[in-house]
Amino acid sequence: MGPVTMTFTYGRKQTSYDEFYNAHLHRKINEAKKKNGSHAKVIVGASGTWQYNYDPKKIQEYGLYAVLEGELGGIAPEIDGHAGQFFNKLIGGEFDNMNPFVKSDFKVEVKEFGRDAEKFHGRFIHYWDEPEIDDIPDIVEPSMHGMVEVMRGCGRGCKFCDVTLRPLRYYPPEKVKREIEVNIKKGGQRNAWLHSDDIFVYGLDPRKTKNMAPNREALEELFTAVMSAGVVHTNPTHGTLAGAIADEKLIPNISKIINSSSTNKIGIQCGFETGSLRLIGKYADRKLSPYKPEEWHWVVKEGVKTLNEHHWIPAFTLIMGLDNAETEEDAWDTIRLISELEKEQPESMFTTTPLTFVPIGLLEKSEFFDIGNEMTAAQLGVMYKTWQHNFKYGIQKFMNKTGQNGPLRRKAFTTLAKTLGGVPLSAMEKYARKKGAEHRKSN
Ligand code: SF4
Repeated sequence: MGPVTMTFTYGRKQTSYDEFYNAHLHRKINEAKKKNGSHAKVIVGASGTWQYNYDPKKIQEYGLYAVLEGELGGIAPEIDGHAGQFFNKLIGGEFDNMNPFVKSDFKVEVKEFGRDAEKFHGRFIHYWDEPEIDDIPDIVEPSMHGMVEVMRGCGRGCKFCDVTLRPLRYYPPEKVKREIEVNIKKGGQRNAWLHSDDIFVYGLDPRKTKNMAPNREALEELFTAVMSAGVVHTNPTHGTLAGAIADEKLIPNISKIINSSSTNKIGIQCGFETGSLRLIGKYADRKLSPYKPEEWHWVVKEGVKTLNEHHWIPAFTLIMGLDNAETEEDAWDTIRLISELEKEQPESMFTTTPLTFVPIGLLEKSEFFDIGNEMTAAQLGVMYKTWQHNFKYGIQKFMNKTGQNGPLRRKAFTTLAKTLGGVPLSAMEKYARKKGAEHRKSN
């Protein structure tokens, strides 16, 4: 039920692969339990468990004993510490009826959802004692796509994000290097994908650092350690535009360390969120620090320019229906900002993906944005504009370049580009025609 899933399943009107696989897994577990007459307690954990609060029926459907919230999963191998206590209490049946007033590392809450005939219950076990970096064990087997964590949490405080509610911790460069070495030795990886929330806050203390000024030295040390492990390519998963340009030596220096070039491009996901100065100021003002909300458009344009100059390509995500408070004018501001970027920097490289608003972080009491029923003409326009951008400036350009070695190849790639980009655009045009004159304007 995260933003990507909610957008691409059209507000769960389709079943996502994750949901399908999760249901399949629980079915298998329950079948095996039945076959063996087992009374094993099934517990779910990790960062996606918040979703059970929004679809509590699944707790019953999957036969879950409890939903474990907090970061215990990260230290489970430490069986003689908190994880050991957890399993002892579980085996001893202490969570069945735990007194919430007795001091414990674990708090049990039985939640009731819904009303009357549609009532559901779920046992939630909270473990809020976040592990220190030293308590988090190194990976011992290769990770997927060479991904290694370099930090947890983010101090920027965007209201629509739950990452920011976690305490900020950084992995020391030596630990990151050790994990990359596991990926190289055991997984044959030549790439290190650095999981970060905002890579440009790595090594800084958001409470003490004035204006979130990046800690360039810490970042240089981190990327030097990464490359010294023996990879040929690395890129962080996420970073903010403001962080990328807040120190003019930062991107040039990191680019030199990681050897970015026209043949070694660096992808990074950045939050574009909205073109509305009103919304960005209200919900994400520290995302822009050291800049002010009224400078947001300049930050976006300068960010794209700086990143592109050093062969970094930002993949932007946008939020549609932010806190269900997005007006038509806010949505038009987003469309305008993308159009300005295209006109003022025609050679710029970036992609744009609109995602629907999901009530997490400080906005957990809000409602999901219902893309199927609530999309205004201007919001449809945002969706159309982003696809048009990806099609014209991304897919088509890329395919044309890929096919430049021969007319047959070019024809094949151009056809593929047309299909990839053209299909969603035609579908949106058809939808707008059906909805009426106001929506047609948005195309
Ligand atoms: S900058 Fe990104 S990770 Fe940090 S709080 Fe904002 S949205 Fe979350």
